[in-house]
Amino acid sequence: MTDYNPIKIEEKWRKKWEEKKAWNIDIKKSKKPYYNLMMFPYPSAEGLHIGNVYAFTGADIHGRYMRMNGHDVFEPMGFDAFGIHSENFAIKQGTHPKDETGKNVNNFREQLKHMGALFDWEHEVDTSSPDYYKWTQWLFLQLYKQGLAYRAKAPVDWCPGCKTVLANEQVIGGKCERCDSVVEQKDLEQWFLKITKYAEKLLNNLDEIDWSEVVKTAQRNWIGRSTGAELEFRIKNHESRVRVFTTRPDTLFGATYLVLSPEHPLVSSMIHDSKFMIQNLDEIKDYINDTKKKTELERTDLAKEKTGVELKGVKAINPANNKEITVWIADYVLSGYGTGAIMAVPAHDQRDFEFAKKYDLSIEMVICPNYPDPTCPVLDEAYEGEGYLVASGDFTGMPNEEAKDKIAKFVNGEEKINYHLRDWLISRQRYWGPPIPIIYCDKCGAVPVPEKDLPVELPYVEDFHPTGTDKSPLATIEEFVKTKCPQCGGEARRETDVSDTFLDSSWYFLRYPSTEFHKKPFDETITKKWLPVDMYIGGKEHSVLHLMYARFITMALRDAGLIDFEEPFVKFRAHGLLIREGAKMSKSRGNVISPDDYFESYGADALRMYLMFLGPYEQGGDWQDSGITGVARFLKKVWELCQNKKGKVKNDPELERLTHKTVKKVTEDIENLRYNTAIAALMEYVNKFTQNTAYDIYCVETLLQLLAPLAPHITEELWQEALGHEASIHNEKWPEYDPEKIKEERARMAVQINGKVRSQIEVDVDAQEDDMKELALGDEKIKKWLEGKTPKKIIVVPNRVVNIVI
Ligand SMILES: [Zn+2]
Ligand SMILES: [Zn+2]
Repeated sequence: MTDYNPIKIEEKWRKKWEEKKAWNIDIKKSKKPYYNLMMFPYPSAEGLHIGNVYAFTGADIHGRYMRMNGHDVFEPMGFDAFGIHSENFAIKQGTHPKDETGKNVNNFREQLKHMGALFDWEHEVDTSSPDYYKWTQWLFLQLYKQGLAYRAKAPVDWCPGCKTVLANEQVIGGKCERCDSVVEQKDLEQWFLKITKYAEKLLNNLDEIDWSEVVKTAQRNWIGRSTGAELEFRIKNHESRVRVFTTRPDTLFGATYLVLSPEHPLVSSMIHDSKFMIQNLDEIKDYINDTKKKTELERTDLAKEKTGVELKGVKAINPANNKEITVWIADYVLSGYGTGAIMAVPAHDQRDFEFAKKYDLSIEMVICPNYPDPTCPVLDEAYEGEGYLVASGDFTGMPNEEAKDKIAKFVNGEEKINYHLRDWLISRQRYWGPPIPIIYCDKCGAVPVPEKDLPVELPYVEDFHPTGTDKSPLATIEEFVKTKCPQCGGEARRETDVSDTFLDSSWYFLRYPSTEFHKKPFDETITKKWLPVDMYIGGKEHSVLHLMYARFITMALRDAGLIDFEEPFVKFRAHGLLIREGAKMSKSRGNVISPDDYFESYGADALRMYLMFLGPYEQGGDWQDSGITGVARFLKKVWELCQNKKGKVKNDPELERLTHKTVKKVTEDIENLRYNTAIAALMEYVNKFTQNTAYDIYCVETLLQLLAPLAPHITEELWQEALGHEASIHNEKWPEYDPEKIKEERARMAVQINGKVRSQIEVDVDAQEDDMKELALGDEKIKKWLEGKTPKKIIVVPNRVVNIVI
């Protein structure tokens, strides 16, 4: 008997599989295509993270399971190599991102190969390679042609750490998602993609796609659809109008003042137009200047006290009751949301309530919970609930839901749908990304680079550091900037911003099957065959970033007639987070696990199994440093079992039932990504069938087949070397079970007295609980233990246990 040496056998099979290209499939000829995608990593210098191994293992087990179920599983892998992550690291190391990336990609690939996954390396992509980003630029041009890419001046989020603007989605709690710096607001001219055009579709399709609920919920919230009305307020003695968006037109009679954002165009025109006769001009100007220094987070933080200034001398008219109301500016109203102005109803909105209390503004209750009782409760906070209208003219007495539409119509309001989602800001004042393919000509304006001239290559330059101005470092490279206008041939300048790394990853799944195709980013026939992606597994932290962007890009490409589906991923599952001994893993804590250490000591099979054993894959797991030994022992046991395989035993119905039950359990668990309980069932199976003095060889074979997706190396070795099969276990068909054979007619139940097992009984599995009680109490042994006492309580767990409490 040979000892189990995981390192040796894993290396042997890795080599054999690679030589045979065991996992490569014929993309063109495949009959049963199954596209199994996982989120490609950005190749950091620290190497593969154990969190990557966790994510990819779960996805690979799914792929291997589908493969054994007869599918041609395409499981590609690549590198999200462009972007600020890689660039920031190069800056820190004093190296160049291009050199750094090349090195890291090679290192990652070698590490990934140790996992024993189905990766098809002939279809690798690297987003920083000109072969790839040529098509990212092409994608930008298609969007531009459709009017979905535009340049505009807007207040944008600027990260002082990364020295670039960020997309809305990259600002989390007012901070940069990459470097945690508090973001600032700047008014800059930037490139945007019109994702808002698809807000409705992005929202509605969520009802149809088979995705993890947690991600769908995050997307729904981020899209943030609210229905309401846009109402118009007149400014007294002036032709100006202020439009406000409100979801509560039913409270209009209680609107006692208006609030404009300090950036509202009317504010600046009031300042410059003497007709308004603002009495506190200096105070207003100071307030506007103070606002400029604040971050969006500081402005909207609910816990912070609200500030504002009245525009003294300006009055607005409430269109419902023609009452004069005051007009304020306040920084908690943002110019980018809605119309940049609100009607304040302090009785029915908590934020307005606090503001009104602070500045002693009138609070008028117009919705009461208990109409017709005319006494409204005295408010110590806003009443935001349902009720009946009071003090609302002809609408008094009406239920507030009904009044919403009616009051909006009464003041000629316009029904309106508002979204939280904003257009995707994609330009970055950085170096390490694809240059945006636009040329500026004094005569012709912004001209797209002709497709035949792609890629606009990113020049290799010594000084790639971000400048901290609103220009990318490319702006200082004259050979890059100076060019000819593609339209008139005159002198022109290139756009020097690069695009966001999330644009690179918004379409990579389209490229994988078509990496051998060079005329277009994706081959039409291949794409028809392989897309949309059948299963995508990744982290939920990408819910409103990558996963939203990829959906938008897919919809845009469909509308351009370039593909024929509008949702990129038929199924998406979010895996949980891997932590270590209760703590989040991070470099600063110094508790990051290197997968290499485990590949080289316990082997990939044990590491894969241990990671999956930690908990339900979709919920994550807590790595215990000594935990892997248990799984390693189990694999050793399996090894020895196959070496000592015993002779055949025929017709053991218990064993047969156990096997069918195990197949059923493991099948269902793997299908639902419950790998932890699948592993537990396999362990239990081994424990049970080895109790027999002799067990049928089919137990061992079934065990190996069920174990193959989880531990691909050891199962291959045992299948071929110990059991003498010629072909690979990974080409075996997944075992089936016969439901008839699982049926248990009789169950053995333990009978306990005060929690201690005192006897056993056998019952019909569908017997009533009372029958089980009766049977337990009638048992001779139990009678003796009871000594004639009457039980206080009898608890029955059907088919398992009867517990008698005395
Ligand atoms: Zn940053
Ligand atoms: Zn021109």
